Amino acid sequence: MKIGFIGLGAMGKPMAVNLLKEGYQVSAFDVNRTSVDEIVAFGAVGCSNGGAVAASSDVIITSLPNAGIVETVMVGSEGLFSQCKEGTVIIDMSSVSPSSTLKMAGIAETMGIKYVDAPVSGGTKGADAGTLAIMVGADEAVFEKIKPVLEVIGGDIYHVGPTGTGDAIKIVNNLMLGCNMATLAEALILGVKCGLKVETMQKIISKSSGRSYAMEAKLEKFIMKDDFEGGFAMDLQYKDLGLALEAGKENNIPLPMTALATQVFESGRASGLGREDMSAIIKVWEKITNV
Ligand code: NAD
Repeated sequence: MKIGFIGLGAMGKPMAVNLLKEGYQVSAFDVNRTSVDEIVAFGAVGCSNGGAVAASSDVIITSLPNAGIVETVMVGSEGLFSQCKEGTVIIDMSSVSPSSTLKMAGIAETMGIKYVDAPVSGGTKGADAGTLAIMVGADEAVFEKIKPVLEVIGGDIYHVGPTGTGDAIKIVNNLMLGCNMATLAEALILGVKCGLKVETMQKIISKSSGRSYAMEAKLEKFIMKDDFEGGFAMDLQYKDLGLALEAGKENNIPLPMTALATQVFESGRASGLGREDMSAIIKVWEKITNV
């Protein structure tokens, strides 16, 4: 099975490297030429556009910043769809809206292309280690076909349901992460103001009902070190909350907590923290409260 890879960023590059290490032949493209050169050093075939990737691949994986870019890559004037062989499977691992994926899948179907959504969780650490959680929306037969490829990239592979359901569960997950993180930041500041040590809150709340993944993953690693390099960028968390709001609008579901959390991270971005780990949101609260 020949693999194509488009989008060699923080997530895509380590995924492609793991496929190469496993012995897969990989053709790769990114608009950033340096990223292509880097993956070629690992044994990939470098391509100068998406069409060249499509022409030489049975399965094409994309890991791109947002739905607008995914749609351009798929159906733009030099889009993948027009260059794919019939029966090609495209696996989009970007975090995008279910509605965008369903739109792409509908067009793909008319061209004999199988379109799968397979967003991931686990960050760059999981991508490096090949231990990502992968949430797959696909027909059963297509899922079985691509499972061995996904098992190289991820540790927990979930077949959620038909196309679009992978994206749906990803936005539900990240909605909860965003709300939990926004809550953690304000709660910690209140605790400190009330005379508690952060270490005391960590010790007791990690065994109590207020605990969360946000606390487990972010408190010691980022907040207590006051170092927010790496991790999951606030800009990406903000984007994912936007996807949830978009899905809420489309489905007539009110999402008040999500709307509030979006504004919290908007304030972080306005403070210049968009590229830092999402937990840097605590800095906004530190500033306005002098804690
Ligand atoms: P990134 O910005 O590091 O990488 C995206 C890559 O796509 C870049 O290398 C960029 O040059 C390339 N690109 C942009 N436009 C292109 C085009 N038209 N054609 C080809 N290449 C193009 O982003 P990332 O952190 O790797 O995230 C990728 C996706 O995975 C996003 O949808 C993100 O929300 C999701 N995600 C990221 C993380 C994380 O921790 N970084 C975790 C889970 C999910």
